[in-house]
Amino acid sequence: MEKIYELQVKNTLLNNEAGSYLEMDKEVICMLRDLFSKKKKKYATIPSEEAKQEVPEGLMTKCPQCKSIMYTKELKKNLSVCDSCGFHHRLTAYDRLDTIFDEGTFEEFDQNIISKDPLDFPSYPEKSQSDREKTGLNEAIVTGKGKIDGYPAVVGVMDARFRMGSMGSVVGEKIVRAIERAIVEDMPFILFAASGGARMQEGVFSLMQMAKTSTALNKLHNAGGLFISIMTHPTTGGVSASFASLGDINLAEPKALIGFAGRRIIEQTIRQELPEDFQTAEFLLKHGQLDRVVERKDMKDTLKTILSIHSPLSEGEVEEQKEPNEQEV
Ligand SMILES: [Zn+2]
Repeated sequence: MEKIYELQVKNTLLNNEAGSYLEMDKEVICMLRDLFSKKKKKYATIPSEEAKQEVPEGLMTKCPQCKSIMYTKELKKNLSVCDSCGFHHRLTAYDRLDTIFDEGTFEEFDQNIISKDPLDFPSYPEKSQSDREKTGLNEAIVTGKGKIDGYPAVVGVMDARFRMGSMGSVVGEKIVRAIERAIVEDMPFILFAASGGARMQEGVFSLMQMAKTSTALNKLHNAGGLFISIMTHPTTGGVSASFASLGDINLAEPKALIGFAGRRIIEQTIRQELPEDFQTAEFLLKHGQLDRVVERKDMKDTLKTILSIHSPLSEGEVEEQKEPNEQEV
């Protein structure tokens, strides 16, 4: 009897058809089959949508320039700059703020303004909502004030993850409000641009922001205020054609793409081939449109130096402005 049982099991394994031996305990067969099976793992775990959102980035990140693979944690420690080739990965708005402001000094403005859908543009509200959930931001810019090595400044940081950092009416409004705060509080204004240009879903309301932000910057200029513009990858379209290019001092991160229209459109229009490095930060520096290309690790120091030159505060007063725990360090 035992031999017959063994034989039946063997046959079952060979035929892989448990159903044909109805008289046998199906569970026993399954257990035996699992035991002899070479493939131990039958099922792959597919993470739920929720789990995917909780872990937005993987353990490892591949550098798009030199293709080397590094731990995401290590990359973040290095301000998201590739160790091997110096490629500047994109930063989220809050990560950027962490790289320049003294710890605990940043105070955000107008966090809860949300865009309307003035043109009734198809699926615009849904797309904005999905970006809000994905990024944790209400719009493509974060504004506020804080201290850079003790020097106070108002800042705006764009985030290219939200609708490609496009400038809609809220982005324009937040920039203008930040500039007005800079005028009232007599502080310099710093803006990190990262944008695909005007937001098409808001049509002419987006284009209006170019004039609106430029006018506000003119007010700051007339009030004797300082504006430092920092162009990061990418700064294009209506953003490069308005406030981003209007800095008293214009800086950029290495290799950032900066331009108005795309390369292909320009080539087709002027019927000429453009140089390889056209529309890069380095090209613009060579042609006088930028004052300096600054690596991310040097950005805070560079800003501190510029602020110290223009600040009405004496060095002693700046020391007093620093947080007590920073003075001890
Ligand atoms: Zn690299």
